[in-house]
Amino acid sequence: MIHKPSQSDRRCALCQSPAPLQLSHLIARGFYKYARTYEGEECETLVSVHGGMAQFDSRQISGYLLCRQCEGLFNDGGEKPVLKACDRSNPLKSIEDRVLALPRLDVLNGIEFYDASRLGPIRGQLVYFAVSVVWRWSVGYELWPDHSSVRHPLGPYEGHLRRFLMGEEPLPSSVHVDVQVIHTYSNAGMLGTPFGQTKGSPRAYTFWVPGIRFTVYIGKVLPPVIREHVLSGSRPVVELCALEYSRHFSKLKKSFDEARPVGKFAQSDLA
Ligand SMILES: [Zn+2]
Repeated sequence: MIHKPSQSDRRCALCQSPAPLQLSHLIARGFYKYARTYEGEECETLVSVHGGMAQFDSRQISGYLLCRQCEGLFNDGGEKPVLKACDRSNPLKSIEDRVLALPRLDVLNGIEFYDASRLGPIRGQLVYFAVSVVWRWSVGYELWPDHSSVRHPLGPYEGHLRRFLMGEEPLPSSVHVDVQVIHTYSNAGMLGTPFGQTKGSPRAYTFWVPGIRFTVYIGKVLPPVIREHVLSGSRPVVELCALEYSRHFSKLKKSFDEARPVGKFAQSDLA
């Protein structure tokens, strides 16, 4: 179900100017293609995670939120370069290969930590992309279907992040982005819309695109153990791990095992 705005609310959520709005995907369409494709074959293993629960789901979430110019900002600033980095058929250019070329700092519980200070432009693009998805998810909550329609207000950060996304302000010092690249491709098809707390500080909002898990922390008090391992910090770190070592994985696996097909998959062999 897509909410079509009336003439009166045709105002871009990002630049706030009255302009025709574009149909905006919460997670860019290209990521769904990767999620459905495994080793070059189109397959039915798209796992969508809504509210921290996994399910087979072919539906793409979209709504009218941004003007054409702001859609372009989001595309060029984050979606396109991150999409390209997720393409693991492109040797040496994929995010996994680029991380493996960095100096390794530490290994802890199966998670490898790499010094990301020489990761290049993709570092800022990953941060921008993560913030754009979480901001869009929060401000557009009325547009998304039932599973993501619960309001997760960003409070004063909503304005700061809006100006960050427009290139007018730096990322607030109390907003941090953690990026975990998934080492093995076998389950890289997982794609999930943001989920996280509605209360407390810092709030942690997590979402997945094929092969990368993003967490955006919003709030002043961030435990040092997390602060030292974020990509957005002054000493940026990127994580690499096999899916089974990921903190969220065991919880997700349980809900994945119980997953019910939704959308076109409900009529397929998976039903
Ligand atoms: Zn705009």
